[in-house]
Amino acid sequence: MPGFELWGDAERKEVNDVLETGILMRYGFDGPRKGIWKSKELEAAICERFGTPHAQLVSSGTAALTTAMAALGIGSGHEVIMPAFTFVASFEAVLGVGAVPVLVDIDETLTMDPLAVEKAIGPKTKCIMPVHMCGSMADLDELKRIAKAHNLILLEDACQSIGATYKGKSLGTIGDAGTFSFDFVKTMTCGEGGVIMTADEEVYKKCDAFSDHGHDHLGVDRGADLHPFPGYNFRISELHSAVGLAQVRRVDEFLAIQKKNHAILKEALSTIPGITFRKIPDPQGDSCSFISWFLPSEAITQKVIAAFKEQGILAGNFYWFDNNWHYIKKWDHLKNLSVLYPLHEAQKKALLDLKEKDFAQSDAIMSRCISTAVSLAWTEEQLKEKAERMVGVVVGILENSKQLG
Ligand SMILES: *Cc1c(COP(=O)(O)O)cnc(C)c1O
Repeated sequence: MPGFELWGDAERKEVNDVLETGILMRYGFDGPRKGIWKSKELEAAICERFGTPHAQLVSSGTAALTTAMAALGIGSGHEVIMPAFTFVASFEAVLGVGAVPVLVDIDETLTMDPLAVEKAIGPKTKCIMPVHMCGSMADLDELKRIAKAHNLILLEDACQSIGATYKGKSLGTIGDAGTFSFDFVKTMTCGEGGVIMTADEEVYKKCDAFSDHGHDHLGVDRGADLHPFPGYNFRISELHSAVGLAQVRRVDEFLAIQKKNHAILKEALSTIPGITFRKIPDPQGDSCSFISWFLPSEAITQKVIAAFKEQGILAGNFYWFDNNWHYIKKWDHLKNLSVLYPLHEAQKKALLDLKEKDFAQSDAIMSRCISTAVSLAWTEEQLKEKAERMVGVVVGILENSKQLG
């Protein structure tokens, strides 16, 4: 990751097609656009590459989650079970449709613990939303079983696991619906963008309309479209889709580089006695955009991070435990209800309860975890040097801590 690292002529060519006609909008203007429909082409390419019958592009991954929830009928009075380790967009989307986020522990997959999910199910639960963090997957067989047993919707946030698979199927195509983000730092980018994938034609049609003010898109005259229900403007532009179209054609190239670099890095890290790796339910399906590894204790992990910083090799190494965006520990704005407009009572209560909620199981995992982002741009030399320096620092700190007893 990410696709922007290999920006080039293919992307420029697609964008130039749109600049030639000047039709930057994805709908209408059939004459002047001279047959150029980048968003439609990208949707078809996504269906083909990731194996889904329907794909609806929108303006971001957050918009994709929000649109998916609306189309799946999730809203006020409902609870959505989601993991405590994710990006803030997950709860933003839940709150956005008026539902209540119920945060649960993760396990060593770095995704939601199915046991914690089962415990969190109550009469208001409507949806289970696994988030496939850092390029790899949740235990989908188990989550599917739970969702089925309790008659719940399974919505996959695959925003940061583009190209990863579970038992041969692309993440994001396994639940009732799934989403990718094409923001600037994702495996493939549109600059900004996102997509909802689903096998359910009705859900797809609702996504199509909801993301464009409820337009039914049945006529040729946009002004004469009917509005079966209100929506939002979550449209993607043709310029963004043009970038994505070039990138989706290169996604296998990106994945191959990730896999190669990941293997070299993993081999180097594996030589360190005392570190372990993230559990991956289907190792063959890892997109390899990150390598996530565990040290023996929080104290040692803090030391490693400090040493990486000191040595100038912190870039690309993420310590999510102390990160403002990805883990419950630092989501004070959420826990303190620092919102711009009033929430409803059930939402308020759930958020205030988060202050007291025990996430010891997740803390014990996240406080020892470092995720190293796998770059597409590294030369073999740079990668080997990086790996060597990282290993040197970690081995030194582990030996030191042993001597200290
Ligand atoms: C990036 C991301 C999103 C949101 O995507 P945007 O396109 O940035 O809105 C949602 N969930 C996860 C897990 C992400 O990593």
